[in-house]
Amino acid sequence: MSTGFNLHDRRASDGQAQASPLLGKEARAEVWRYVVEAVEGYVSHADELPIRPDLDPAKVREELGAVNFDRPSEPLEALELAHRILLRHQTHTPHPRYFGLYDPAPTTMGIAGDALAAAFNPQLSVWSQSPGAVEVEQLLVRAFCEKFGYDPAASDGTFTSGGAEANHTALLTALAHAFPEVMQKGLRSLPAQPVLYVSAEGHHSVSKAAKLCGLGTESVREIEVDEHLRMSAGRLAEEIARDKRAGLLPFLVVATAATTSAGAVDPLRELGNIAAREGLWLHVDAAWGGAAVLVPELRRLLDGIGQADSITFDPHKWLSVPRGAGLYLTRHPDILERTFHVSTAYMPLLNSAGPEVANPFTRSMQWSRRFTGLKLFLTLAVAGWEGYAEVIRRHVSVAAYLREKLEESGWAVVNDTALAVVCFVDRTRPQGASATYLQAVREEVVSSGQAWVSVTRLAGERTVVRACVTNYRTGPREVDALVSALNAAREKVSAARQ
Ligand SMILES: *Cc1c(COP(=O)(O)O)cnc(C)c1O
Repeated sequence: MSTGFNLHDRRASDGQAQASPLLGKEARAEVWRYVVEAVEGYVSHADELPIRPDLDPAKVREELGAVNFDRPSEPLEALELAHRILLRHQTHTPHPRYFGLYDPAPTTMGIAGDALAAAFNPQLSVWSQSPGAVEVEQLLVRAFCEKFGYDPAASDGTFTSGGAEANHTALLTALAHAFPEVMQKGLRSLPAQPVLYVSAEGHHSVSKAAKLCGLGTESVREIEVDEHLRMSAGRLAEEIARDKRAGLLPFLVVATAATTSAGAVDPLRELGNIAAREGLWLHVDAAWGGAAVLVPELRRLLDGIGQADSITFDPHKWLSVPRGAGLYLTRHPDILERTFHVSTAYMPLLNSAGPEVANPFTRSMQWSRRFTGLKLFLTLAVAGWEGYAEVIRRHVSVAAYLREKLEESGWAVVNDTALAVVCFVDRTRPQGASATYLQAVREEVVSSGQAWVSVTRLAGERTVVRACVTNYRTGPREVDALVSALNAAREKVSAARQ
């Protein structure tokens, strides 16, 4: 048995290669070459792969059976296995006929940024370890604060792993703002139960965050939506009044801009006015829809977002950087410190560069942190704001073309949004709005390999097929293919039911 264990080059143990923390130079060259070719191959040929994999767990596990940690593999062998698994066993979201969830094809500069971040591996817990990386993230936070209508000199924010962590951060900061004593004494120090409000179409990461904060899901009031799937401001005001009468402690309104299923944007100004009148924190979950602020003609859809106390925005959604990259932004410059600050003796802190630098570990949920901002920084540096505006405009116009083509073929578009998500049912069949029928049509389209769409439920009851444009390579040709696949699926499913 070899005892010459070396994490980075097992060949060092049998004397064939120099002991090195980074594999030998030749082996490294082979590894890099393999990875570059695999990446470029995928980026340029994703459209030739089946969009959805075979969903058979036995097949994946069988393939993984080739690995034996007691008999380590050669680097290229291991890479080939990983490459095979990625090619065969995942839904290929960069495929131009993937009309899926918000999983855009990642940008080239984003992929490069993530690779650099992994290799240089800066530690972003404290400023003094990685001043360059922390300043890059701060610069991006200020730039996005300004785009959302905050004063960049009097606002703040932090990168998160995604929208769920940003929403969780929002709940914590809203709690710390409303009940500062909770940060020391916990929720049991309060005289009553704090409650928060989100629309019935809001994202379920809000409920999850309520669990994680110790508030519990029953503290989340789901407010009814109107016929456009937007939170009803009237109902919100009523619920707040009722909770106050019952002696509860309303502290937060979470508005959604835009909803995950259908792209509905809550009436931000009205909700902002209610929150201000009642003294509640307004958080706007703009995880994907927030990208509309980068396009002058779409900005008005998010009118009022600058009034929010905090905002969730996910660059890994519509800004197409590799996962995970979320942002939590706030117009309260000291709230992150007030929520997350702890002091330690062992962190190589503090203020060696003066008091004005930000130490991320005292301002966010994470401690050791990776350089999440680099992939966004590089993409934005190369595309510019205008480049991003162009991408979003294109997605929006391809979605408009899809609406038109669907209507021409007798599908009824049921959601009302200018953003790039289309929900529809079948007008040509008596059962065209039933859940089983639409599920069957969806399954038929996806298993035909022609396109990938999903099914969702609106207002808790109406089942719809959902198609979302998230890929720059998706154009009229792909839309035509999707509509043909839907039309063929309609025939097939209806025939099977005769
Ligand atoms: C996707 C999404 C989230 C969750 O974000 P993750 O990045 O998946 O954690 C939250 N809110 C909305 C509106 C979303 O669309």
